Amino acid sequence: MRFIIGLLGGLLVASAAAAQERAADLGATLLKQPAVQAALEAARRNEPQMIEEQIRLCEIPAPPFKETTRGEAVRQAFEALGLQHVRMDEVGNVIGDRPGAAERPRLVFAAHLDTVFPEGTDVRVTREGALLRGPGIGDDCRGLVVMLGVIRALKESGVETPGTITFVADVGEEGLGDLRGMKNLFNVVLKGQIDRFVSVDGTGFGVTNVGVGSHRYRVTFKGPGGHSFGAFGLVNPIHALGRAIALIADFQVPEVPKTTFNVGRIGGGTSVNSIPFEAWMEMDMRSADAAALASLDASFQQAIDRALAAENARWTDGRLEVERTLVGDRPAGRTPEGAPIVQAARSVTAALALPERLGEGSTDSNLAMSLGIPAVTIGGGGRGAGAHSLAESFDSTDSWKGTQRALLLAIALAQR
Ligand SMILES: [Zn+2]
Repeated sequence: MRFIIGLLGGLLVASAAAAQERAADLGATLLKQPAVQAALEAARRNEPQMIEEQIRLCEIPAPPFKETTRGEAVRQAFEALGLQHVRMDEVGNVIGDRPGAAERPRLVFAAHLDTVFPEGTDVRVTREGALLRGPGIGDDCRGLVVMLGVIRALKESGVETPGTITFVADVGEEGLGDLRGMKNLFNVVLKGQIDRFVSVDGTGFGVTNVGVGSHRYRVTFKGPGGHSFGAFGLVNPIHALGRAIALIADFQVPEVPKTTFNVGRIGGGTSVNSIPFEAWMEMDMRSADAAALASLDASFQQAIDRALAAENARWTDGRLEVERTLVGDRPAGRTPEGAPIVQAARSVTAALALPERLGEGSTDSNLAMSLGIPAVTIGGGGRGAGAHSLAESFDSTDSWKGTQRALLLAIALAQR
């Protein structure tokens, strides 16, 4: 992990240790400023309206790869809140700037537009007192609305920051979306221009500084196929698949960092009395350690090669081929606990007397972390349950605390 001179340290700070120290009491220092106090009050005062906005956004469907309508609603909100240079990029990310005294440092503050729910899902939200129910209400309509709450509080209080904050409602965070929004943002749209990254994802007060990476494959064995009796002696794709899975089932992986593998789906064949012409499986591998993930991936490739060779060697008729498609590639990464951005996140959380908790996860921050850009993902406050299920709910009791924490962190990270 490289250290960027001056990160949260100003020109006077020449060492990582000093920047760390300054980041550690940044929360308390900022709280003493009247403009910051005014912004925090605005965040609290606006929360009831922001909850209405959370419901409105949640009721606009945003299935994977179909986030545009919800994105359009966020684009209008960005414009209404006075962000500058508001635009939608070619993959559907909605981007808007709040310029500081200088262009850099640039903080990107993001929340994701997409849900895991397919087209046609009933996304209406019901409300009983503080409790909201609806698919996507927490993950990540909470993050989107915390972002809007932060922009609005900054606007109403007139807080000025030395650095620039670029707000992004991004596409493709979930599953097969494969971080395509982040990939386009970091590799194309703002390539080389992002100094710090925060995403607000879901609920609660957690701070994620470890990004669990994943590789996902679909593997298909293919052969000629034939009659189970008449063509006996022919290579068999399902047998090859079985050989591969038997090898995978015996993989040994590190416990720390947690590294996992799973064959989640299999298929193939046409009838009990046919030698199949095709068999497939889907495999998921995860680790927060890039090297462990790479080594697991290598073992997986070997298992496929060995299974193919063994099945082809077993029979004299026909030859099998194998096709492997990478259907998910989420890079692993980590922002060290001692990094100024993590210290800043902890310090603003503590300054607001909220519970501090560091954790690992698989979020938009993975991409920044894999590039060595300081990044954390934070929860948006309130209490969530049932994420990724139709029964998802969000308890908005005191949820303004989440907006305040995100706001204070945004201000902290837009300092020199
Ligand atoms: Zn999410």
